[in-house]
Amino acid sequence: MPELPEVETVSQGLQQRALGRRILAVDIRHAGVIAGSPQQFASELEGRSIASIRRKGKVLALELAAEKEPARYLLVRLGMTGQFTVIEPETPLESHTHVLLTLDGRQEMRFRDVRRFGRLRSCTGAEMETIFNRLGPDAQQVTWEQFLAAMRARRGAVKSWLMNQQLMAGIGNIYADESLFAAGIHPLAQPGRISRNKGRRLFRAVRKILDHAVRLQGTSFRDYVDIEGRPGNYEPQLRVYQRDGEPCPRCRRTIRRIVVAGRSSHFCPSCQPRPRYARMPGSRR
Ligand SMILES: [Zn+2]
Repeated sequence: MPELPEVETVSQGLQQRALGRRILAVDIRHAGVIAGSPQQFASELEGRSIASIRRKGKVLALELAAEKEPARYLLVRLGMTGQFTVIEPETPLESHTHVLLTLDGRQEMRFRDVRRFGRLRSCTGAEMETIFNRLGPDAQQVTWEQFLAAMRARRGAVKSWLMNQQLMAGIGNIYADESLFAAGIHPLAQPGRISRNKGRRLFRAVRKILDHAVRLQGTSFRDYVDIEGRPGNYEPQLRVYQRDGEPCPRCRRTIRRIVVAGRSSHFCPSCQPRPRYARMPGSRR
């Protein structure tokens, strides 16, 4: 599932290849990926130019300018398997391509999504701000003070806490597991009971891992590709994610997998010791 580094890579690609271009035509092949009326979506986008690209967490907002009219925004959520590319119109159409935007300068923007959890939405500036304001601070911009305040008194698993987009936006399963490993924190630890020192280590791990992953254009699990259809390069850097059964890169003990709030969590039982208060899933009482 695309997380902050993957969406940021798409955002940077759009800055290079789509900024300033005009949307000449909108072709919707599967209306299920459009939020609201597809006809309205098409008419609201056609003729407008891409004036800026913003990202918060995993959400992208393309500012669409028109003469004498307030700007509109194209909101893009990649969901589980969404791909957003800008390519030459001659490029053969892949299956599961649901939306085609013809751009000037002989370019085509395509939205492809096998699982169809991704969404495209046309909205006003005020609607865009409302959606962005519902998200916590972006995980690449979050300050230590914000991070610490969000941890305070929080119960429940730190793994779920890291992935709660209202507290901090951008982290999903992959970078949550990797950050917890780097900080030596068990996925079932409670944020409110993590020491200030360990909290600081987690904060630094989050920032460092996200920055590194952005530099390597993200991780390609499932179908993620960048704007030109290339996979990310971070996968070899993963230390625990989906490496259960393999030796820990630090201590050689076997990496384990447990389910926390319905999501797989990968961790090293010796580098990330379980706090006494945390019961393992499946254990009695
Ligand atoms: Zn270990």
